[in-house]
Amino acid sequence: MQRRCLNCDFPVNESDKVCPKCDSQLVLQTDGSTTTLDIAHGRQRIDDAMEQLRSAVAQHQRNPTQFLRIIVGSDRIRQAALNELHAMESRGTIVQYGYDDRNRGALIIVLKRPK
Ligand SMILES: [Zn+2]
Repeated sequence: MQRRCLNCDFPVNESDKVCPKCDSQLVLQTDGSTTTLDIAHGRQRIDDAMEQLRSAVAQHQRNPTQFLRIIVGSDRIRQAALNELHAMESRGTIVQYGYDDRNRGALIIVLKRPK
């Protein structure tokens, strides 16, 4: 599906950082949506799970998703994910992260904080 600028509805490319028509910052635009991804229940090795996590973050930074909800299960993958997200937060790759209040086996990542 073709992405459109949420400010002016102009069609934009995935690689565009700024709308060519209205100069709105596409990387900050969000529709407030949440996408859920399970990285713990496909018998993944930790490395594979972290790769899924990194690629999901990269993918959803190029579309209007605001929150990523990551199902991490209860042990090793969760710990690895917490380490990875701490590093991403330090680098400014993500805005912040935390536990899902209703489910300790899930983490919530805030990808964008609209102005
Ligand atoms: Zn625009």
